[in-house]
Amino acid sequence: MTAASLLALYARCPACDLVGPPESADYAVTPDSTVDWTSPRGPEIRCGECGHLHTITEDDVLAFDAEHACTRCQHATACPASAARVQCGECGLVGFGPASSNEVLRALTTDTEQLRRLQQRQQIQTVKALAGLTATRTGRAER
Ligand SMILES: [Zn+2]
Ligand SMILES: [Zn+2]
Repeated sequence: MTAASLLALYARCPACDLVGPPESADYAVTPDSTVDWTSPRGPEIRCGECGHLHTITEDDVLAFDAEHACTRCQHATACPASAARVQCGECGLVGFGPASSNEVLRALTTDTEQLRRLQQRQQIQTVKALAGLTATRTGRAER
């Protein structure tokens, strides 16, 4: 599977402290399509939980010492035991990882994702407001 190299980059996010599949990964590749760690431009990954953009080194990539069973297709995907989220290597569904069996961590994961959605909505509203397209302005005038 070609997406395997991207899915393999599980690293702990320095911002939210969660481990999950990166939302995006930008890195140089070697001729045999693996991550080129010798490139001066280290892999830059965006946290799938909080959206934090950070650069990782080879030491940051977590080893796959556990397995995640997909709730949709039952496929077993290798992953780090510390992963709060795991993306199924077969169907692509993102589910709770092994670390989410801890209720505190599971709550932190869903809270982080929810907070990010709220922030994104706010950002969109700010951009709209700046562009003079906001519905909130109409709301204020009507008050
Ligand atoms: Zn994060
Ligand atoms: Zn699946």
